[in-house]
Amino acid sequence: MAVLSINCFAQTSERIPTKGYALYTADGDLKPYEFTRHEIGENDILIETLYCGVCHSDIHQGRNDWSPQTYPLVVGHEIVGKVIKTGAKVTKFQVGDYAGVGCMVNSCRHCEYCEAEEEQYCLDGRVLTYGNKDIYHGGELSQGGYSNNMVVDEHFAVIIPQNADIEKVAPLMCAGVTTYSPIMHAGIKRGDKIGIAGFGGLGHMALQYAVALGAKVTVFDITDEKRDEALAMGAINYVKVRNQEELKGLNNTLCFILSTIPSAYDPMLYVNMLKVDGELAVVGLPAAKDAPKLTVTALGGRRKVWFSVIGGMKETQETVDYSVKNGIYPKVEIIPIQQINEAWKNVVDGKVHFRYVIDMQSLK
Ligand SMILES: [Zn+2]
Ligand SMILES: [Zn+2]
Repeated sequence: MAVLSINCFAQTSERIPTKGYALYTADGDLKPYEFTRHEIGENDILIETLYCGVCHSDIHQGRNDWSPQTYPLVVGHEIVGKVIKTGAKVTKFQVGDYAGVGCMVNSCRHCEYCEAEEEQYCLDGRVLTYGNKDIYHGGELSQGGYSNNMVVDEHFAVIIPQNADIEKVAPLMCAGVTTYSPIMHAGIKRGDKIGIAGFGGLGHMALQYAVALGAKVTVFDITDEKRDEALAMGAINYVKVRNQEELKGLNNTLCFILSTIPSAYDPMLYVNMLKVDGELAVVGLPAAKDAPKLTVTALGGRRKVWFSVIGGMKETQETVDYSVKNGIYPKVEIIPIQQINEAWKNVVDGKVHFRYVIDMQSLK
């Protein structure tokens, strides 16, 4: 018994040494950073990070575009890796399994939204993967996936199927579920004429889900550069919104539009394209200073505008399973962590070819 209790003590009390890349200030570069994560609790798993996607939200949050942050800050919420240790009560994972972590790592587990498996709307204590006060671990700052490991409650990790394309699967944890969820909630079906505004990391996932459901999709973006790729991925139309000619005849034609735009834009452009009872769902989150302004009195005939935040853990698992089964993956560029500052610049400048994914084995 004595030996057993020592083992248990060892398992629950040791903090986990971690290497990552952090921002030390809002406007500085990401640089190497060593820190520790909380101990592996009985429901926790320790994941060795293999890949982490680069989301525009990492930049917005790291740069204080939404609210003031605490530094050093390790961002990254599109994480996939291998389980290397499990707590005593873990049932969902075994050592050696692939696991994914998305935008949240904890919630209260008892409010009405947690009970409905929509933990992203938790009323009483959601903890985001990075930059959040982790109230379940002494209030320490949560640190994200630009790092070599993660410790997370198994409830907040998804099972990555062994046959998944492991280099490409990480962005499903944010870009995937963030677009899959509103498309499914809107009940998009075969033949529906819909729009996807913004054709980047989120937009190109949204297009693939909508096409898989049989929708007739018009893609909107500010440049011409990705026109051919959008059409090749199944869009029936591509509109460069800075070209007035291409916008002609679109008002009152679409039943649903998903906006993934992460920078300043006029949402009324898209509202006016909706039919009666049409819906504009918004998932893109520009900087606070660029928040899109809606003219409520101009909404017109029973049009609806709603916002959607990632998805619950059940829906995130569903997204991963659906995507792997249907071969729906992001287009990715794999980079070593040492190129992260250049990659961020390219994301801000719109030069990324859909999604950067960091090969975390580059972190030595
Ligand atoms: Zn994200
Ligand atoms: Zn809750």
